[in-house]
Amino acid sequence: MGSMHTGLEDRRQDYPKLAAYFAERAAGGAGLMVTGGIAPNIRGWLGPFSGMLNSRWQVGRHKLVTSAVHEEGGKICMQILHSGRYGYHPFVVSSTDKKSPISRFQPKQLSSGGVEAQIKAFARCAALARDAGYDGVEIMGSEGYLINQFLSGRVNTRDDKWGGDVARRLRLAEEIVSRVRAAVGPDFIVIYRLSMLELVEQGSDWEAVVAQARAVEAAGVTLITTGIGWHEARIPTIAAMVPRGAFASVTGKLKSEVSVPLVATNRINTIDVAEKIITSGDADMVSMARPFLADSQFALKAMEGRADEINTCIACNQACLDHVFQKKTASCLVNPRACHETELLIEPTTNKKSVCVVGAGPAGLAAATTAAKRGHSVTLIDGASEIGGQFNMAKQVPGKEEFNETLRYFQKQIELTGVQLKLNHRIGNADELKAFDEVVLATGVAPRTPPIEGIEHSKVLSYVDVLRGRANVGSRVAIIGAGGIGFDIAEYLSHDGNDASVNPITFMKEWGIDASFEREGGVTDFNPKHQAEREVTLLQRKQSKVGKNLGKSTGWIHRRSLTMRGVNMIKGCEYRRIDDEGLHITVEGEERVLDVDHVIICAGQDPLRELQEPLQQLGVSAHLIGGADVAAELDAKRAIDQGTRLAAVL
Ligand code: FAD
Ligand code: NAP
Ligand code: SF4
Repeated sequence: MGSMHTGLEDRRQDYPKLAAYFAERAAGGAGLMVTGGIAPNIRGWLGPFSGMLNSRWQVGRHKLVTSAVHEEGGKICMQILHSGRYGYHPFVVSSTDKKSPISRFQPKQLSSGGVEAQIKAFARCAALARDAGYDGVEIMGSEGYLINQFLSGRVNTRDDKWGGDVARRLRLAEEIVSRVRAAVGPDFIVIYRLSMLELVEQGSDWEAVVAQARAVEAAGVTLITTGIGWHEARIPTIAAMVPRGAFASVTGKLKSEVSVPLVATNRINTIDVAEKIITSGDADMVSMARPFLADSQFALKAMEGRADEINTCIACNQACLDHVFQKKTASCLVNPRACHETELLIEPTTNKKSVCVVGAGPAGLAAATTAAKRGHSVTLIDGASEIGGQFNMAKQVPGKEEFNETLRYFQKQIELTGVQLKLNHRIGNADELKAFDEVVLATGVAPRTPPIEGIEHSKVLSYVDVLRGRANVGSRVAIIGAGGIGFDIAEYLSHDGNDASVNPITFMKEWGIDASFEREGGVTDFNPKHQAEREVTLLQRKQSKVGKNLGKSTGWIHRRSLTMRGVNMIKGCEYRRIDDEGLHITVEGEERVLDVDHVIICAGQDPLRELQEPLQQLGVSAHLIGGADVAAELDAKRAIDQGTRLAAVL
């Protein structure tokens, strides 16, 4: 289980929760786990007061984690992460004083004495980790943090013992590994996370990658883990539009250069993908991180031949990375218990009830299967012919193929927990619900129809018409509304059937990655363009940047992807009317007509809860969840969380 920052590492009072989180994953069969990054000193902090281990008095809290893991038969390493210029605090240091594009703090250039102090801090931190009971440490030499800032000419322009040619630039990595090894002794795991593909201008070329791998091997590492991309890179590395296992061949290329075991990473989320990487010989081990947030029993289910029961990570980043960026505790969209193990308890009920859940979208599925797991007798009803609600539209969008896995998971849970499922059964009359002890309305949303003159024109389609395949969309389209769904529709209509989200070769071509990995940074083209056949314009009324409210860790990818395809984005629009000429708008006081074949409405939704009032009249009080409760800012994260939390207390 690879390293993931959860936010729980940063506060002493959260360590019991961190211990429970890791213990559950150790019990679930994870072979070797790595903690989120822990700084070796204040200079290495990710942010003010983030997790740090540099004093004996901090050892106790880590012992909570290591003993909980060992009690479950697991093994755990602590990641030592020095953020260098990526730190978000005033004490940042780096090889030079060059500011990073992702932190507003100017780093101080380390003097020779300063470099020595950082090395000492790594060694002391590793020794303390050993005292705390960890089975090893992982040295973060990837993703653009301090060690990269010395390795790369992009940041390191020094000309002393620590900078100049490749041999001098990699001296810091070498020195840290050998001093850590000396501090912990020979019988302790030392993992090195190595940037095999940096994806930034002036990044390492393949020769420098190999030189680094050989140097850290000679300095005493036990394992080398793959690192892909710096945080400042503008190429996606773990989001859903990256094909599964897309970067395993980079690890494979390094195999013949070193003899320590190599670990493949990034977008490995199913047993099949993991198995294929190992059997192809690309790597000796695989590391999965987010898949263990999604399902703490991933490994156990795999070992027991129950892969179809795994709750698969869909690479959305919505509850993990996006939470960390927002300084919130990480969790998981498909598993709201992740990092909340001590508080969100799913326990057998002592008061068995008959429960009816109306609506089998994400909210209803989570509520029904959780309630049934607890021992309630649950009936789940949907008017559609399949479970999933809006997920059946989402899964059509290129890059959202993983949503199929969530539907497969819930289908299996319905079978395992004995939920009685009734499809093709739209409830129009509340009478049939009154016999149940509890009624849950998870009926979702209805797309909003904005009051624009000409909204009934034959050119107007809703996103539902497009994604349900009910319309033959023309070659020039305008999309009204640039929220998550407007962006998805633009992606869907500008993709021209390319398979970049499922095929690593097409993906690399699409994003300008050098498939031979030889070039500087591993990139051939930092500004690729793939003009779409269809002319697409995406519009919003707000004056803010188009796509500003998309996820923090993925919004830039969606914007970049549409820009690459030539999608036109217009903000600050006033919609005047739709007629045979097209869509009439006013932008910055100027009247314009977009001559389009279709205008697609993606203007948000309103709650669909027409059963609530009749139920109230019958004296039945229903629980509202998901879109049926509040449609504004609804996403699957809230829908699943709300469904699970309600069912946990029914
Ligand atoms: P819904 O999914 O709308 O389900 C409601 C269900 O109730 C439906 O199946 C409907 O048939 C049924 N129903 C309604 N009335 C009745 C009745 N009277 N009787 C019986 N059955 C009834 N969210 C994200 O978090 N991340 C994303 O990346 C994302 N992408 C999306 C992309 C697209 C294209 C779309 C359309 C949505 C996307 N969403 C995404 C939003 C997400 O799908 C919704 O937030 C989520 O589905 C809401 O869940 P829900 O259970 O409340 O409602
Ligand atoms: P949304 O994010 O609320 O966006 C609605 C868009 O419609 C906005 O751009 C809004 O912008 C516009 N709009 C609202 N009222 C309008 C009106 N009366 N006339 C014209 N335009 C109007 O909703 P959504 O795109 O439908 O998405 C629904 C939910 O699904 C969202 O909450 C989203 O989180 C979730 N989702 C998430 C993802 C993801 O990748 N995370 C992807 C898809 C969907 P202006 O007001 O500026 O015009
Ligand atoms: Fe995976 Fe999304 Fe869960 Fe993160 S929130 S672990 S990306 S499913």
